[in-house]
Amino acid sequence: MPWWIYVYVVLFGLVIGSFLNVCIHRIPQGQSIVRPRSRCPYCNHLIRAWENIPLVSYALLRGRCSQCHARISWVYPAVEALTAGVFYLLFRKYEFGAAFWLNALFFSLLIALVFIDLFHRILPDVLTKGGTLVGFLLVPLQSPEFFTKPATTWIGDMIAARYLDSLLGIALGGGLLWVVAKLYFMIKKIEGMGLGDVKMMMTIGAFLGWRFAWLTIFLGSLVGAFVGIAFIYLSGRDRLYELPFGTFLGVAAIAATLWGAPLIHWYFSLL
Ligand SMILES: [Zn+2]
Repeated sequence: MPWWIYVYVVLFGLVIGSFLNVCIHRIPQGQSIVRPRSRCPYCNHLIRAWENIPLVSYALLRGRCSQCHARISWVYPAVEALTAGVFYLLFRKYEFGAAFWLNALFFSLLIALVFIDLFHRILPDVLTKGGTLVGFLLVPLQSPEFFTKPATTWIGDMIAARYLDSLLGIALGGGLLWVVAKLYFMIKKIEGMGLGDVKMMMTIGAFLGWRFAWLTIFLGSLVGAFVGIAFIYLSGRDRLYELPFGTFLGVAAIAATLWGAPLIHWYFSLL
């Protein structure tokens, strides 16, 4: 691939990241993600086009509103840079295969969920239930051969196998977290893991199938345990139920999509 195609992929990621910022701030409030145009939350100043360029505007404005000079959250450039970064990695893996477009959609969904859970401790149904449905319907596109190999007899078998894998992913991912949530509630009498986490895991299973759903739960728990131990150590409080588990699951699912096969291979080489 010529280098300038990667520049376009990064720019595409920045634009999608900018849209995800709108989703992250408006979906928890139940507002439309299309209208009205964005305003400064402090002085109500209408954000002009040149103030809305991903990363560039934040740098030009030095992270402040052009009117009232209130600080603009670091989340905006972080989401834009993160989206561009994971799109770049996805493109290196799949190039123009159908799997690039499908997983770019999947990552967009995950990044919205990661940040909404981090700041609001909720995982909106419109993203988790909607994501499960869309992931299941489009899952045949995960096959790298899609669109490139001539569609002869193999395609029917491949589609059936992908749908089965996706269903198993939904059942295993959602089911496992549901059991853990119930057990946690029985033992601790605290709602440690909500149904939102269960539904988010169903979405991940729908897109990735049962093997990587399993890997996502494993990696997410690992990251959660490390962060949790650090949290207890630094804060001196055992309040693990306050941690955003959906955030860890989202990060783990991105890692599983990009490096799932080598990660599983490496894990079994240790045994
Ligand atoms: Zn302002």
